[in-house]
Amino acid sequence: MFYIEKQEVFQKPLEEIIEKLLPSQIDIDFHIECLKAQAVIARTNMVREYLKIDKSNSVYSSYRFYSEWELKEMWSEKYIENIEKIKKAVEETKGLVITMEGKPIMARYHDTCGGSTENSENVIKNEVNYLRKVLCLYCQNSPNLIEEKDFSIEDIENALKVKFHLDNPYSKGEIKGFFEDIVRDEENRVLSINVGGKVFSGKEIMEGLHLNSTRFYMTPLYLRFTSKGKGDGLGLCQYGGNELANRGYSFLDILKYYYTGVKIEKYSLPGIANPLYGKTIMIDPGHGGKDFGHMGELGSKEKDIVLEVAKILKEELETLGGEVYLTREMDEEVLLSKRSEMANRIRPDFFISLHMNYFPKSNMKGCEIYCFGEDAEGRKMGEILLKNLEEIGVVNRGVKEGNFYLLKSIGVNTMLIELGFLSNLEEEKCFLEENFIKKLSYGITLGILEYFEY
Ligand SMILES: [Zn+2]
Ligand SMILES: [Zn+2]
Repeated sequence: MFYIEKQEVFQKPLEEIIEKLLPSQIDIDFHIECLKAQAVIARTNMVREYLKIDKSNSVYSSYRFYSEWELKEMWSEKYIENIEKIKKAVEETKGLVITMEGKPIMARYHDTCGGSTENSENVIKNEVNYLRKVLCLYCQNSPNLIEEKDFSIEDIENALKVKFHLDNPYSKGEIKGFFEDIVRDEENRVLSINVGGKVFSGKEIMEGLHLNSTRFYMTPLYLRFTSKGKGDGLGLCQYGGNELANRGYSFLDILKYYYTGVKIEKYSLPGIANPLYGKTIMIDPGHGGKDFGHMGELGSKEKDIVLEVAKILKEELETLGGEVYLTREMDEEVLLSKRSEMANRIRPDFFISLHMNYFPKSNMKGCEIYCFGEDAEGRKMGEILLKNLEEIGVVNRGVKEGNFYLLKSIGVNTMLIELGFLSNLEEEKCFLEENFIKKLSYGITLGILEYFEY
């Protein structure tokens, strides 16, 4: 188990964090619908934390995770299967949060309620209208329904820092409810005693319990504590939820059962690992179909490289909360007029066209960016992108003014990136490596992020 500081957690993509949190919050062998309910709970609490709704009594200052190593150890041969199960639970509830009056709730949960959940005011001081007592007859098969624990008198004294004053074994004291109304003679022999409501003579007790004499004393040494349920009883009873799932209820039914009067809805946030929330970006992989674009000496085609980069960018930018459109998703011909029409219809915050450069009989290499005329925003983003690419080792050839049809015909911020030179054998080799393409895409993503952040 390890802990990550809250601030650090908030910098990671939300869905990824939920996947990591889940194994420490619920039994992986539970029904998928119950795991989904827990995924929504984890997300709800995370979003609530992020919004700082509980100002004073924040529930967590850090988050508890199992490391990959611990999970492998714990799940051994079921590791892959369980990871898939977690991913499914998170993915199928993507973005969903439990809300009340539009705000994410304090989604409390516990292992086993033991018959009914609790009203919030009995556990935490305040009355919370969605944390109401509900009947739960579904956790009767929980292994945690009943727990018995034996404590010696000494254990109890130590744990609770009290003293029972039983140190004198020859005390004549009664033990209420067990041994009462003890009558002794002047020799301290028991003449009569009430045991559990029945009166015995000392001799009867001596014989019945095979004691050596009627001069006996009693000292309690152990106490058995029996507890019902596990956890504080607030919100979701996990074993109950699991049973409901086994009976065919969905995660939505389960959540609505245990949280009174709530809604379950998609909740996106700017900030919490969604820094591109509200931004629309259109990526335009150049060429396609029978228009190959440029070709390298080793046979790489411009149309394939730019499509590959576009797809990676789409995935990365979406993970960061952006809304991303591609002008083509496969190897097909798309007319320039069609591309600009799409851009003008969707009106993205930025339109980024991807191409590969070519300059025969030269060893020119690196990345250059074109913007249209006096497009100050295009220039600004271009410079930020190139700076980020330079940091990962790409040669920065600067931002230039370009008179391309696309740049001219689109009424939003645009730029055209010439990612590298297919005429340069060394550079073509780089583009054949998946890792290079990923690194390059990541550099562009960081640049886009930086542009929108400042
Ligand atoms: Zn229950
Ligand atoms: Zn091109």
